[in-house]
Amino acid sequence: MKIAMIGTGYVGLVSGVCFSDFGHDVICVDKDPGKIEMLRAGKVPIYEPGLDTLMARNVDAGRLSFTGDLASAVDGADAVFIAVGTPTRRGDGHADLSYVMDAAREIAAALTGYAVVVTKSTVPVGTNRQVRETIAGASPGADFDVASNPEFLREGAAIDDFMRPDRIVVGVENDRAAEVMADIYRPLYLRDFPVLTTDLESAEMIKYAANAFLATKITFINEIAALCERTGADIKKVSQGIGLDGRIGNKFLHAGPGYGGSCFPKDTRALARIGQDHGLPMQITETVIKVNDETRRRMVDKVMDLFDGRVAGRTITVLGVTFKPNTDDMREAPSLTVVPALIGAGARVRVVDPQGRREGEDLLPGVTWFDDAYEAAQDADAVVILTEWNEFRALDLKRLATRMANPAMADLRNIYSAQDAHRAGFTHYVSVGRQDQI
Ligand code: NAD
Repeated sequence: MKIAMIGTGYVGLVSGVCFSDFGHDVICVDKDPGKIEMLRAGKVPIYEPGLDTLMARNVDAGRLSFTGDLASAVDGADAVFIAVGTPTRRGDGHADLSYVMDAAREIAAALTGYAVVVTKSTVPVGTNRQVRETIAGASPGADFDVASNPEFLREGAAIDDFMRPDRIVVGVENDRAAEVMADIYRPLYLRDFPVLTTDLESAEMIKYAANAFLATKITFINEIAALCERTGADIKKVSQGIGLDGRIGNKFLHAGPGYGGSCFPKDTRALARIGQDHGLPMQITETVIKVNDETRRRMVDKVMDLFDGRVAGRTITVLGVTFKPNTDDMREAPSLTVVPALIGAGARVRVVDPQGRREGEDLLPGVTWFDDAYEAAQDADAVVILTEWNEFRALDLKRLATRMANPAMADLRNIYSAQDAHRAGFTHYVSVGRQDQI
């Protein structure tokens, strides 16, 4: 199969590279010339474990290439994937579809023979039909079908998620498009990963419903964690106790500083908006958005409480600023709430993150960047763990405490315990949803 992949971000690049690894001929397109230049030089513009090696292998095999010229990639393609961003539209919470529709118009002008135009971006119900109308309007007589193929990969584990998915969802309108999609995903069909074929609307809805459900699960446990703090219960035990119930499952039950990232915040907002547009407010999702905002603000209070609310002039070392480990993605990360609030209250903030600096330098003005947690803790008044990178999961707490001016820790990922911290010489330790504090 010949595939054009429009957009080389976290989803487009991973999908393009993995499709080429299936044996398809893939041309990845991006309108950002800087990205194309990097990719052509063999460099990966994002941090995603394993992507560089897989990309190099398929470029060497002659199956994968990169261009800024959409028309040349679409010419002769069996399938054209749209994997551009769908961020929140300014002002109203709706998904901004301008990138998707721009791509559709460019594809319309470039189609030469039959192709399936596949939307991989997360888009509101009805968008695939809009894509079809846009292409048909711009290029009457073009021979094409549309398909909805939402992506469920997680940044940081994207290749494994793509190659070993829980399921593949394909929304189509006819058998011809279904056959092209089946040919593309055949290597996964053969390995028995479930493929769910639906209509366009259901495929679009599945993606939002899945993300809203996961965001709800995280937010639910965060709210229970807050209640644990007031009632004497321990959220770790509570999570374990409910997660062992097979109907609930143990994933996404870790209390923390609230969800962030490139998907949950914007997709919950978009679902809420879809509900409003259809006269059916998504009350659960709307509440989840509100509770998640409150959870983030509670994290600021937790750090402030280490100093009885007076952080002015204090030096605070923040470990981890990306929205989760193993990615450089900073979009809507909890750090973007916590760090500016601390700086606003007069604290001096130092930051350590294995991959976050490139993006974080612009997003977190006023912080000082360090490469090493122990150096960053020298003479500091508190350490705040915000992202559970592996290197922050096995800190030598004693080494950390001895170099701090005031050994205090806010462990917002519940990695350590008050006992560990106390033994290491910390005088203050707080976490999320546990009585375990000093
Ligand atoms: P991204 O912002 O990282 O990448 C989008 C890329 O598209 C950019 O490089 C941009 O330059 C390019 N682009 C935009 N318009 C273009 C055009 N007309 N022609 C060529 N290139 C164009 O976005 P992302 O994180 O990869 O997300 C893409 C979509 O996938 C979104 O709808 C998102 O919701 C969805 N999604 C993301 C994830 C994730 O973990 N990031 C997971 C599942 C689904």
